[in-house]
Amino acid sequence: MKYSELVEVYEQLDGTTKRLHYTHIISEFLKTINEGDLSSVVLLLEGRIFSRQDDSEIGIASKILVKAISIASGIQKEKINEDWKGSGDLGTTAYNLIKKKKQVTLASQDLTIEKVLKNLRELAIMEGSGSVDRKISLIAELLTSATPAEAKYIARTILDDMRIGVGEGTIRDSIVWAFFGEKLKVQYVKEEHKVEIEDRELYNKYVGAVQGAYDVTNDFVPVAKAAKKGLEALQKVEMEIGNPIKVMLALKAKNIEEAFERCGKPAEFEYKYDGMRMQIHKDGGKVKIFTRRLENITQQFPEVVEYVKSHIREDKVILDSEAVGYDKKAGRYLPFQNISQRIKRKHGIEDLSKKFPVEVNVFDVINYRGKTTTKLPFKDRKEILKKIIDEKEKKIVLAKSITTSDEQAVSDFYRAALDSGNEGLMAKKLDAPYKPGGRVGYMVKLKPTKENLDLMIVAAEWGDGKRSEWITSYTLACIDENNNLLEVGKASTGLKEKNEEGLSFDDLTKLLKPLVTKESGKGLLVKPKIVLEIGYEELQKSPTYTSGYALRFPRVIKLREDLGKNDIATLEMIESAYGEQKK
Ligand code: AMP
Repeated sequence: MKYSELVEVYEQLDGTTKRLHYTHIISEFLKTINEGDLSSVVLLLEGRIFSRQDDSEIGIASKILVKAISIASGIQKEKINEDWKGSGDLGTTAYNLIKKKKQVTLASQDLTIEKVLKNLRELAIMEGSGSVDRKISLIAELLTSATPAEAKYIARTILDDMRIGVGEGTIRDSIVWAFFGEKLKVQYVKEEHKVEIEDRELYNKYVGAVQGAYDVTNDFVPVAKAAKKGLEALQKVEMEIGNPIKVMLALKAKNIEEAFERCGKPAEFEYKYDGMRMQIHKDGGKVKIFTRRLENITQQFPEVVEYVKSHIREDKVILDSEAVGYDKKAGRYLPFQNISQRIKRKHGIEDLSKKFPVEVNVFDVINYRGKTTTKLPFKDRKEILKKIIDEKEKKIVLAKSITTSDEQAVSDFYRAALDSGNEGLMAKKLDAPYKPGGRVGYMVKLKPTKENLDLMIVAAEWGDGKRSEWITSYTLACIDENNNLLEVGKASTGLKEKNEEGLSFDDLTKLLKPLVTKESGKGLLVKPKIVLEIGYEELQKSPTYTSGYALRFPRVIKLREDLGKNDIATLEMIESAYGEQKK
């Protein structure tokens, strides 16, 4: 299939902001795709080049791309950087410069999506000496045969920044419209940006089927393929041990009473540990561990692999848990920050696992004996857990819990949780299923303090005077329901100087520098990759920031390497925190 056909769709998507219109464009396109091309098309539409099971990353710095554009366009690097400063997007710059060149050279050869995928995938596996040059020439080769518009999207795919706001809900609905639209009589009325559906109930059933298949695979590629075959195939899509699925998220309760309101009586209350989420897959002798962002961190936690092999009495399971670090010498639990450094480690892993080992607190089971357990009520899942975990303190245990209807009992348990250094409690609804990726109130957290906000750095500024070598001010954003990042303030306190213990300006500068997309004076625009947990005094309404809110006295609490764009505070959360505060 020609890449240009896909690029035409990208361009159409770029030209709209309406969700229903996106859905229409994608679904019409999907209808035309034959089975053989469907996987590649779905991947590329999402701006991905690897399946979810594949951890590979392209990992190309903007600098390399600039060189490749320079070779393909015959234009000097300086000129490219200049255009980039103006456009703020290297994809647009690739478009501009390839266009200049194309006016003087012959028509390009047709690029296929296979060719684009093949070259981009090769980028990820090139290693060793001379690999940078080979990467540059591989990209340049693509760009040379690309039209300006193709070059734009090749560049954006490489940078993992498609700039078309297609969220998961949109892709899900597009699949429904594409493969069941005729049967369900879905009519999109373009002029009014609305959709007419004959039988809502039936429609919702199909949406539920697509969503259900996505929940257990976390990948629209197999979902689209099954949907093309029909409803039955869709309902047969199963979870595979080894492929991570999204974790269920929590809502917040103000107090014990509200926790009961949400979860009913009796409810289960568990310690809320201050550690990191681990989704653990066991398939015989093979164990894999994923973070809540579904990154594979098996290598980094060898001790957990051992615990699971020796103390889980079942061969095929997926567990949900919180791993807490502790100081072996002092025998006390440690804040999250101490084990978070283990996530990215490539060297000295054994040493770190000895110095800061983790205790795994298991609280849910998602797959048991190869079968999905998400639809079972929580209390049944808990029974399974009790059966299969051979508890060993400081290694692997069940999360501490009580099941009760009594507020006083919860209050005592809450106090005990806090006294032993935990964040609070998690209340859980006994008859609720496990909803992957859902923040649906089947688990509700009880925490005493005002909630910090996890926010994305979208812009930054160089410091003054003796801090001029560091980036010292960070513009922070939350996310709205259309995946737009909206600014809520700037933080420049809470960080340490270079050689002090803890997160420093120097650390953040090093992380931010490769992400800079535009620089003017002291101001920088950066790719949205870095999430900070931010404490603040108060929220104010403010016209200064695009969210309409401003944080008063924001301060950096910590770096959240475990969080990504989907995990940050939503505009809705900010609005509700503002509402709370007014009360
Ligand atoms: P928060 O990150 O504040 O929204 O709280 C939810 C997180 O608490 C989960 O993603 C888990 O990482 C963590 N957590 C700690 N203890 C538990 C528990 N017993 N049950 C569920 N989640 C827990």
